[in-house]
Amino acid sequence: MRTKKCRPGTRVTQPVDAGSGQVGTRVPPAQTPVLPRLHHCYARWRPVSLPLTTLLVANPTARTGQAERAIEEAMEGLARAGLQPEFCPTLPEGATVEALAIRIEREDIARVVYLGGDGTFAESAKGIILARERSGVDVPLGMLPMGTANDQGRSFGIMAGRRALDANIEILVEGVEQYLDAGRVFAVGSDGELLHEDLWFDSCGFGLSALILAERNRDRARVGRVPVLNRLYRDKLVYAGAGLKRFLGTMLRRWRFSCEVNVDGRVYRHQGCTDVVVKGTLLYGGDWIFAPQAKPDDGLFEVVVLHSHADWVAAAIAAHKHNPVTDDDLAAMGVRGREVPAGKEIEVRISRDDDTPLPAQIDGEEFVSCDHYRIENLFHHLRIIVPQDARWV
Ligand SMILES: [Mg+2]
Repeated sequence: MRTKKCRPGTRVTQPVDAGSGQVGTRVPPAQTPVLPRLHHCYARWRPVSLPLTTLLVANPTARTGQAERAIEEAMEGLARAGLQPEFCPTLPEGATVEALAIRIEREDIARVVYLGGDGTFAESAKGIILARERSGVDVPLGMLPMGTANDQGRSFGIMAGRRALDANIEILVEGVEQYLDAGRVFAVGSDGELLHEDLWFDSCGFGLSALILAERNRDRARVGRVPVLNRLYRDKLVYAGAGLKRFLGTMLRRWRFSCEVNVDGRVYRHQGCTDVVVKGTLLYGGDWIFAPQAKPDDGLFEVVVLHSHADWVAAAIAAHKHNPVTDDDLAAMGVRGREVPAGKEIEVRISRDDDTPLPAQIDGEEFVSCDHYRIENLFHHLRIIVPQDARWV
């Protein structure tokens, strides 16, 4: 796993003094009016101290005001740690990415830190990438996860919630940088036309898990209008409720699809699938690890295809992160080891008898539904700040 010590954000074409956190500005000797004998001493490098601001990206209206308290605590904690926080609220209708990029391009940001769920991670990461591609200014992304699943954080040993804030701020100070591969997904129409493209950073999926997420989002909107229910029926409860309801419905109706998955030229055909998940980080659903050898920075994504209800149950046992059962034990129990192919370029073609669109998700957000997706791995596309001995929790 490739890591390097944290360094402040900088225009990538400039030299950086990593130890002091100062950004060096190159001054051509010919333009520097100095005494000839002293010229060689300081004319080439003139360090300029810049304030090293930490930009905290969060949605202050999320989770019925709890987010406001979490943001306050995070801002206080970041200030106590000497990280000079500045708050950057998320904006509706995808406007966060552009606003964040414009702020980063002012070149006084050391790091962006997101507070929230997978959606806030994705918006922050896209803002960082936009600033880099447009202006050459690159900064790393730190994590203060608040979401239920938190696969991204937990894959690197970072827990979620307000109670984990102090420990997670400590990671921002003491941690290291690591590369993360990003995914680019293309939704392709029936005539081969591009319907939509987007970036994702944890997983994208088609089928049952996307169906559960769509249901969860609908439930959230519904219970959000009832204050008492809103407090009780949030996150895990909604997720479990939606999951069970859908799961039973799926079993009863035998709702399935066929697919052809092309992983770097190798073609896998599946029938009776309930789910295709393309995974960038290790943990799935907080508790499952389908490919223990997977790396978030190796230029490859894992492709997990799930079939029947029995397949889900087998996966729940065999792929559970705390599973003490070995592959030999599983073979003796009659549970076949799951083949999880990995590749850089992945193509998924779906066929269904039913005309109902198959739900799709990227990083937990609903994505365009169609029958043909192309996914590519963008190698080392983002720098993230993780613990020094990062491992899943
Ligand atoms: Mg990988």
